[in-house]
Amino acid sequence: TLSGRTAIITGSTSGIGLGIATMLAGAGATVMLNGFGKPDDIAAAKRAVAEAGDGTEPHHSAADLSKPVEMRAMIAEAESLMGQVDILVNNAGIQFTSPLQDFPDEKWDAVIAINLSAVFHGTKAVLPGMKARNWGRIINVASAHGLVASPEKVAYVAAKHGVVGMTKVTALELAQTGVTCNAICPGFVRTPLAEVQVSTIAQTKGVSEEVALRDHLLAKQPSKRWVEVSEVARMALYLCGPDTGSLTGATLSLDGGWVAA
Ligand code: NAD
Repeated sequence: TLSGRTAIITGSTSGIGLGIATMLAGAGATVMLNGFGKPDDIAAAKRAVAEAGDGTEPHHSAADLSKPVEMRAMIAEAESLMGQVDILVNNAGIQFTSPLQDFPDEKWDAVIAINLSAVFHGTKAVLPGMKARNWGRIINVASAHGLVASPEKVAYVAAKHGVVGMTKVTALELAQTGVTCNAICPGFVRTPLAEVQVSTIAQTKGVSEEVALRDHLLAKQPSKRWVEVSEVARMALYLCGPDTGSLTGATLSLDGGWVAA
């Protein structure tokens, strides 16, 4: 259903972004990956996406999205390699935790640059083409932390709330076009990095991994289970599918009930 469509998924060398890239390629889209990683890991990510699709290796950009100039260059490269960008998934993100009064200034700047400002620069760069063709999908991977807060995550929570606000403005400005913009707001998603936190908590609190997951990491997630990458990826695919033109400016929670509590 996405054959003939092209997509850039930022931060797609691992985790949620790779899952979304794989899902979109599986539906027939031509994709460009972005993100860091060891050459072997990037090669494995490209292979996974190729195998899900028609076997064609996806493009990969190593653009550092903390730098606006690199985001703009990546969009331009994608337009020249793929002809156009129909779908932009703003997914790249980092986390840093610390009480606010000790939060390092440079960590604040990095989280805001990657998690928030990159979404602005990427959206701005793809809009002329999407508006000219009167079709586009901008999908922002925000977080439950775009809707509610937790302590010690000041930069992340500020950035994700900002992404939710930007999603609404983008949707309003494009409401009379064929371009939609939505935010997916996951709770804790089972990714390699997130799973590592379980053993760390188990060790520091002296509890079993089961208790660490249920009572600590997933304390705020009423389902008491991970959100799976495939659940997030399928939501992204849905947003690119037919009969979704009126679905815009929304925050789509995939959080096992977190923000309902
Ligand atoms: P991840 O660490 O597995 O992947 C992050 C990706 O972003 C990687 O490909 C990495 O190389 C890339 N990246 C990091 N800094 C970059 C930069 N400066 N320029 C370009 N790429 C960069 O993370 P994930 O868990 O898959 O998270 C993806 C998104 O989902 C993030 O925005 C995150 O905030 C959000 N999210 C994650 C969870 C979760 O529980 N894992 C929950 C809610 C929201």
